[in-house]
Amino acid sequence: MMFRSAILALVLAAIPGVECAQSTEFREVAFSQLSDRNVAGLGQAALGIRAAEWKHAESAHFVYHFFQSFVAGPVAVEAEFYYGSIARDLARDTAQWERKCHIFIFERPEDWQSFQKRGQLDPWTGGLHAQGELFIVRNPQYKWKGHTLGHEVTHLVIHRFFGNGVPRWLNEGFAEYAGVRGYAAFHRARGFSSRPTSRAVDPARFIPLAQLTALLDYPADTEAVLTFYHESERLVRFLVAAEKRGFGLFLEAIAQGNRMETALSKGFGSRFPSLEVLEREFKAYATKDHAPAD
Ligand SMILES: [Zn+2]
Repeated sequence: MMFRSAILALVLAAIPGVECAQSTEFREVAFSQLSDRNVAGLGQAALGIRAAEWKHAESAHFVYHFFQSFVAGPVAVEAEFYYGSIARDLARDTAQWERKCHIFIFERPEDWQSFQKRGQLDPWTGGLHAQGELFIVRNPQYKWKGHTLGHEVTHLVIHRFFGNGVPRWLNEGFAEYAGVRGYAAFHRARGFSSRPTSRAVDPARFIPLAQLTALLDYPADTEAVLTFYHESERLVRFLVAAEKRGFGLFLEAIAQGNRMETALSKGFGSRFPSLEVLEREFKAYATKDHAPAD
């Protein structure tokens, strides 16, 4: 899931000047012509909103449902870019996965709100991956689209190639980390200077790792949700920086049901002998350069 204010922050930081190239792969077709017309419950709920106005298209790995092709075309270019680069980063071969992922692209905030109600989503949700389907909002008035799409495509890659055993902090933390990196890489590849950014955690709000890594659901209040995303992203960033290959082994071990300590030792040997040792080092890293908001 994607926190809405994170998207807003990126949108507000917008600088005019970029249009993404249209993919030659993107092909608009009638719904009956789609190679995969199986849409799950949430997808059905989405297609029920302004039902007569949805259009449909495909690219190599995705099926798109959208309202305007000039909005969906650039989504296709980005989605394919993220899917390939994130799977490659995690050393996963996508060639054997033949079924396509459905992406539902909303444009109007009021449509998204009615989808949130129909799907019983948290009101702060700004994008969603659910059982292999993606739901995003793309307001055509914003030049810079933010990293929501990369975030949700990361959830898709985790879901497909690591299964459902990845705990919430690691799933969201990695989606934030890879989504922001992918977004920066996508624009760098098109000649724009763009660097991934990461948010420091307020030391007063730091969530102890024993608690963070055991969370089964999102925290209850909005501030805590933000801290949860930032701290999870920082923890992933910290572990990747400790050893990139080790992080891959750690992720694999966690996905297969290992406890934190076991997975840490598989990924990083004796570097983090306990959660307490990891927390001591990590807390300094996570809260470094924290500046209170005005
Ligand atoms: Zn997410």
